[in-house]
Amino acid sequence: MDLSTLTIAEARRALDAKEYSALELTNAYLDAIAQKDGEFHAYLEVWTDSAREEAKAADAMIAAGKSQPLTGIPIAVKDNMLIEGRIVSAASKILENYHASYDATVISKLKAQGVVFLGRTNMDEFALGSSTENSAYGPTKNPHDTSRVPGGTSGGSAAAVAAGMALAALGSDTGGSIRQPAAFCGVVGLKPTYGAVSRSGLIAAASSLDQIGTLAKNVNDAKILFDAIRGHDAMDSTSIENPKSEIRNPKKLGVPREFLTDLNPEIRTQFESTLQTLKDKGYSVTDVALPSLQYALAVYYIINPAEVSTNLARLDGIRYGLSVPADVIGEVYSKTRAAGFGAETRRRILVGTFVLSSGYADAYYRKARSARELIRADFAKAFESVDAIVMPTTPSPAFKLGEKNNDPVSLYLEDIFTVPVNLAGVPAISVPGGTVERDGKKLPVGFQIIGAWGGEQTLFAIGKDV
Ligand code: GLN
Repeated sequence: MDLSTLTIAEARRALDAKEYSALELTNAYLDAIAQKDGEFHAYLEVWTDSAREEAKAADAMIAAGKSQPLTGIPIAVKDNMLIEGRIVSAASKILENYHASYDATVISKLKAQGVVFLGRTNMDEFALGSSTENSAYGPTKNPHDTSRVPGGTSGGSAAAVAAGMALAALGSDTGGSIRQPAAFCGVVGLKPTYGAVSRSGLIAAASSLDQIGTLAKNVNDAKILFDAIRGHDAMDSTSIENPKSEIRNPKKLGVPREFLTDLNPEIRTQFESTLQTLKDKGYSVTDVALPSLQYALAVYYIINPAEVSTNLARLDGIRYGLSVPADVIGEVYSKTRAAGFGAETRRRILVGTFVLSSGYADAYYRKARSARELIRADFAKAFESVDAIVMPTTPSPAFKLGEKNNDPVSLYLEDIFTVPVNLAGVPAISVPGGTVERDGKKLPVGFQIIGAWGGEQTLFAIGKDV
């Protein structure tokens, strides 16, 4: 088997045909991780023994004729999804030794299918960042050029799939954290409709934006994994039944041209060439107006910190993880949080606490929420005339490690094309859309397809044509 090109669909066929066993497949991945991950650092922990046990159980299921789409398929899990008994740290020092007390709903669903869990992947601490450099455990490197970032925050998951160290992976996307690393690493990344996948057992960053999704080698694999994890869950009050707003034969694409005027010329060239491919396949392309998109980044960087500051308040040195002893309780809180949180996490907590404070909530937080409704309405209006909206996933290809370390705003600007989707709650997929050359290396860029609420099947249909 060639792990660099193997897909879930092909592995399924081969496993069911008994061409190789789930144990052999798993061992091949464990070997690949042992050989390569010293260089890339996609994994924070590899579960060698339990992966082999799960593979044996999967082989028994297959032998008994009880194989399901993901039985025996080795996948990687971002380090912010709970697996009972395992450490889950959100790449933070504050949760370094925290063991999950239950399975996230996505994990229970995959366990029921007999999936093999290879390990937990690196990420930006608490899913805050765009490069995986905010991990407390050191950055992940981009498999296409190890002097560059893999994107973030699901950078470990994207790099693991791109480097043939997992057949597919789970990620989470609050403002682009599946799509942007997928783009930088040349894989497919799906951010489902808000509520399509249960968030129960996902360590919360910004609850109204967070969504679990899939990273895979191609669109079909992203769909197979999504189908396995989607669906209503009583444990998540925001989760929804599988929506049925599908368009039979989506052919009408909209491009928000006015939003793309300053686009980097090389990214534009790749984008236009992918558009041309779709036109050649019978797609029509029109301009769509999304006037409020210009506020999306500002709105996101108010709402995200506000919700992050609230969610992370539970990490107080008493209830979970790290606890720094002190004489008075207030000092336990402050010392634990000072020792446990990295710089970006502290920045979000400070900004979030500020925008929610009584003197400023009207000026910032409530204003941002109103503007968010305009963004949602703009998308809804655009989808009256087109089946999908397309634009680049990112304004640039993978940047150098350290390049944006001292300039958080330049890092935030990386999210300009991805955050509007989370604010609107609609689904989007990033598929590989060409390459640009940097320092003699070909770096992948992403083509983003955004669907109407519940429109995942539309994204898969179009994505397969790219
Ligand atoms: N880069 C964005 C942020 O830092 C998105 C992160 C994410 O999607 N988790 O908030």
